[in-house]
Amino acid sequence: MFIFTLGGAPDMDALLRNRLVTTKAEVLVPADGERYEEAIGRWSEHCVKKAKCVVKVTCADEITKTLSFIRDHRLGFVVRGGGHSTSGSSSIANGIVIDLSLMRGVTVDPALKTIRVEGGALWSDVDTEAAKYNLATVGGTVNHTGVGGLTLGGGYGFLTGKYGLTIDNLLSVDIVLASGDQLTASETQNPDLFWAIRGAGQNFGVVTSFTFRGFDQPNPVYAGTLLFPLDKLPQVLAFINTFHASNDGNQAILWGVSCPPPAHAPLLLTHIFHNGTLEEGTAFFAPLLALEPLANFATMVPYPTLNSLLNHASGFEGRKQFAGSAFKLPLALPLVQTLIDRFLGFVTQFPDTKESLLLFETIPYKEVVKVSNDAMAFSNRGEYYNLAVMIKWKEAERDADVRKFARELVSGAGLAEGVVRQKDGEVNGTNAEGVEGVGMYGNYANTDIPASDIYGNNAKKLEELKQKYDPGNLFDRGTKLVAKPVVPMN
Ligand SMILES: Cc1cc2nc3c(=O)[nH]c(=O)nc-3n(C[C@H](O)[C@H](O)[C@H](O)COP(=O)(O)OP(=O)(O)OC[C@H]3O[C@@H](n4cnc5c(N)ncnc54)[C@H](O)[C@@H]3O)c2cc1C
Repeated sequence: MFIFTLGGAPDMDALLRNRLVTTKAEVLVPADGERYEEAIGRWSEHCVKKAKCVVKVTCADEITKTLSFIRDHRLGFVVRGGGHSTSGSSSIANGIVIDLSLMRGVTVDPALKTIRVEGGALWSDVDTEAAKYNLATVGGTVNHTGVGGLTLGGGYGFLTGKYGLTIDNLLSVDIVLASGDQLTASETQNPDLFWAIRGAGQNFGVVTSFTFRGFDQPNPVYAGTLLFPLDKLPQVLAFINTFHASNDGNQAILWGVSCPPPAHAPLLLTHIFHNGTLEEGTAFFAPLLALEPLANFATMVPYPTLNSLLNHASGFEGRKQFAGSAFKLPLALPLVQTLIDRFLGFVTQFPDTKESLLLFETIPYKEVVKVSNDAMAFSNRGEYYNLAVMIKWKEAERDADVRKFARELVSGAGLAEGVVRQKDGEVNGTNAEGVEGVGMYGNYANTDIPASDIYGNNAKKLEELKQKYDPGNLFDRGTKLVAKPVVPMN
């Protein structure tokens, strides 16, 4: 796409305001002070960029109008959902932000058990509203994350073990295309677009509403964090290595290492989840509980509270960078020890990185792999679990070092089998067609990597669909997909 900044055209925001004058959209510019600063704020400070203006839209028509202005003046722009990506894909310097934060409505249809969610909602909005009807869907494990980015990239949550990914429970979307046209996409309406947006949605338009399947969730759940000293790793890992066989989809363990406050000393964390009673939960996790954790915060909580339990470890201050890979169980102790040693070797060098997190997301995949990798754009389905590293830091001068370290740590550089994605990009244990998946969750990756790393064999079809739905590559902020004409067969 053409990117012309607004820098040389000082009357642009007046023109844009004029275009939106009869609407409820708010146009914020630097002169608006605190409200503008708040609007360009992001979960990670390194993604805060000085936009020329932020358009807080309230409906699809305002998005259509803003996009027509953007096309007319050939401007750079981004779409902001919950603002949590660490790739910077929802922020832009000197361009326009289409900000969906005023579009957070959630409507539940208890008879159909569907949940309709506006494009700028957070998962807390969904969890809270659905719970009024004893329903839930597969949403993020930290509830201030945006529904938009998480869903369009795939979506894992505590209910994944039972119901698959967020996109596996997406019934339809309303979307505004680059042309400004407003469409509905589902299995029956514009099914090729629906295929594309489930995994690569950021590249195809602005989703104004998502409709999800809801599931009965009347009961509270057993969940919370157990803290262990690092020397309990062998016993903890022995339990984790039994998890694949023992879980029935109603359990999950997010475990790893961090140096949490107040002591900032390295600790082994296991965040456990059981969708059922206290008796069942404590029985399932009995081997871990018997290891006498230093602290045990696991307790019964209502479902909406579940996804707030990790909020304190995912606050908004400072700079953060995610990188992702995948691992298989059983994991060998030396492999885990090596990863932990490398992680701690980096974060203990700098006081401001101590709250970084190395996380083995052991969320059952049995439901995820029931869907094939070509059923939708999302290509990370395989018999493995996501591995994530989140580095937190403060000094801008270390941005590049942090990014390099995070990427190298989880890329399996120099590691033996166990980590799925190897240094050279090959995926351990899959065939050449990528049948087992790419081994990297797109929502944990930066956007400067090849499309095939995230979309595998689906990249080619996605580029053809870009030609159909966004031939000018207007939506160019996600993993790079360039519109390519379909080559006719002779
Ligand atoms: C603390 C934390 C916890 C997380 N936990 C989970 C988890 O449990 N499960 C999981 O799967 N992932 C998780 N993630 C990763 C998360 O899925 C991504 O960070 C995701 O990009 C966040 O979406 P967002 O809308 O908040 O971000 P944004 O930065 O606003 O958006 C990300 C991308 O999506 C686009 N976008 C957003 N909304 C729309 C829309 N309505 N229409 C079109 N494009 C849109 C943006 O333009 C941008 O390209 C977590 C991330 C963080 C920071």
